[in-house]
Amino acid sequence: MTKYDDYKKNVLEASLWLSEHGYFGSHRGSGGNVSVRLSEVAMVITPSSVKYQKLSVDDICVVGFDLSVIGEKSKLTPSVESGLHSIIYQKRPDVNAVVHTHQIYGSVFAVINTPIPALFDEVSFSLGQMVEIIPYALSGSSELANNVAGKLSNNANAYIIQNHGILALGKNLDLAILNAELLEKVAQIYCLALSTGKPIKTLPESIVELVVAVRNYEVNDAQGKNKEKK
Ligand SMILES: [Zn+2]
Repeated sequence: MTKYDDYKKNVLEASLWLSEHGYFGSHRGSGGNVSVRLSEVAMVITPSSVKYQKLSVDDICVVGFDLSVIGEKSKLTPSVESGLHSIIYQKRPDVNAVVHTHQIYGSVFAVINTPIPALFDEVSFSLGQMVEIIPYALSGSSELANNVAGKLSNNANAYIIQNHGILALGKNLDLAILNAELLEKVAQIYCLALSTGKPIKTLPESIVELVVAVRNYEVNDAQGKNKEKK
């Protein structure tokens, strides 16, 4: 037992749920990764390129935001996307969990390179006014992490990575997974709606403004609480 075991267990359980529900693109694959914030300098994250069904709690990695491995080393290498997760925690004080998946309908918009607008209020209050596209860069590259960093200031909780997959963020791991689910729901509906060729109605501007205000409030509130702690 280590002091990180509860975090590791939660990350492993979340990864298995996402894998079993097809969020990693294939039921046998490991196309995605999950992390939770441990502190202002470190996170717990899934290892690279191993089937989630074969992992144990001890295989989950503890990594500093400088990407150094902390504590008892896992025998496995941390996710190649650790840099991307790290930059999100550093830029967004409201985020305590990050889910990266290759889910099917989210990936449709990754290849047509099209953002998803505000379509349902209950989805938009959770995800943000727009699910924007992060420009393509090679998986695991610092360029991809920088491209993600460049989009985080819209305070959204979901993004689509061009020709790759999606990112869902949350105040905790349950909410990050819920946001991945909400994104898949809205992506599926938008995809079907576009296929009808009929005009698509987005939310009224006044509601979109409310969504922006709520998202900004949540991020500023977390920033304020972090300052109080210091
Ligand atoms: Zn990926």
